[in-house]
Amino acid sequence: MYNPKSRKAEEFINHDEVLASLKYADENKNNVELIDKILGKAKLGKGLSHREAAVLLDCEIEEKNKEIFELAEKIKKDYYGNRIVLFAPLYLSNYCVNGCVYCPYHAKNTHIPRRKLTQEEIKQEVIALQDMGHKRLAIEAGEDPVNNPIEYILDSIKTIYSIKHKNGAIRRVNVNIAATTVENYRKLHEAGIGTYILFQETYNRVSYEKLHPTGPKHNYAYHTEAMDRAMEGGIDDVGLGVLFGLESYRYEFAALLMHAEHLEAVFGVGPHTISVPRIKKADDIDPNAFDNGIDDDIFAKIVACIRISVPYTGMIISTRESEKCRERVLHLGISQISGGSKTSVGGYFNPMPEDENSAQFDVSDRRPLDAVIKWLMELGYLPSFCTACYGSGRTGDRFMEICKNQQIHNFCHPNAIMTLKEYLEDYASPETREVGEKLIQQELQTLENPDIKSIVEKDLVKIHAGERDFKF
Ligand code: SAM
Repeated sequence: MYNPKSRKAEEFINHDEVLASLKYADENKNNVELIDKILGKAKLGKGLSHREAAVLLDCEIEEKNKEIFELAEKIKKDYYGNRIVLFAPLYLSNYCVNGCVYCPYHAKNTHIPRRKLTQEEIKQEVIALQDMGHKRLAIEAGEDPVNNPIEYILDSIKTIYSIKHKNGAIRRVNVNIAATTVENYRKLHEAGIGTYILFQETYNRVSYEKLHPTGPKHNYAYHTEAMDRAMEGGIDDVGLGVLFGLESYRYEFAALLMHAEHLEAVFGVGPHTISVPRIKKADDIDPNAFDNGIDDDIFAKIVACIRISVPYTGMIISTRESEKCRERVLHLGISQISGGSKTSVGGYFNPMPEDENSAQFDVSDRRPLDAVIKWLMELGYLPSFCTACYGSGRTGDRFMEICKNQQIHNFCHPNAIMTLKEYLEDYASPETREVGEKLIQQELQTLENPDIKSIVEKDLVKIHAGERDFKF
């Protein structure tokens, strides 16, 4: 039985409810009256149910699809302005006991070099990342209780936060590690992590079990209920995602929104972010071996429909996607992107030659962070290295409250301007700095509150003089 409030995976991601929603969507994909009604609701900016969203995703009427994309763009502007937050992944270890058939870290892969960073090596990686200008990381590791126990992850987080190199600092560590216990989530929370990210990979239980034939990750319910345990352990910012390409995108889309509805129903706060990774070529992985690959048009439609369905949830796109594809979807609802990423263990300090590569998957957007920043600014975006919400305790329901009231501009916009200024002073190339300084002058004019504007202007002078870490 479908029950969004249940704590059982099979009840809150109920297979029959997903199928019924997809049938409803298929039957109504050309129902103008209903689509108009759903769009009317979406325009209120309060989100949509998974069924309503599924209808929009299936909609075949050209004119209505245009409206969907326009609305996604409007909601993105209203909630997130032109800001794009930057982060980088940091791979700690690729030891893994699981058998995920799409991932080259699977236990049976005997030729991929296995590496696990020592705390000293983590320090070198973090200094390299700070020297690029990063302030926010997502740590990644395979699942291996012997090689990567929770103590190793906790030590690594401590090391990362402790490194202050020149003007650099990592101010927010998000964590993408395998599903674990409430006790371990509590330890991660106490270690001061930002968001706990865990991709569902696929919500379809039968496919899930086939795609994860061996190892602890085989347990669908344990994996699907992980966010509930994370929240019980005190982590109130969680990040959802599916790996598009494994299963039918329609199924994943409806179930992903059901997962968001479940978290809202049980904990009163939806997911902090949703990621939209697509399967990529990797060491012994051929993405064409999977039947459910999606093209760029469908991908853009998914981004737009997520944006209007959960307006208050940030959306992340990684360097799995090319510059062209990222450019296409940024304005439809993306709020965070990675830049200058390496998906190999130790790849920032000491990049490996191709044949010794321990990378998890091929990166499509290989540009250095400086080029990504310049590109964003030239497209009219305001790159942000802000981590202030987390530092000021604006997480979970407190963050959502501010976000839902569209108050976020009063904090985020000035913080984005000031953290961009820090980046320009400390790390940017002369060309990027020139573009950035002009942008900052333009963005200052958009600050409506004269008191805030005057504080920012003063702080910009202080940043130029060498002071750091100003925030609202
Ligand atoms: N090991 C952790 C777990 O089990 O959730 C997560 C860390 S893993 C380094 C991060 C994510 O990379 C996975 O959740 C998966 O969705 C994604 N991934 C794995 N293989 C991939 C591939 N070939 N192409 C794109 N993404 C992939």
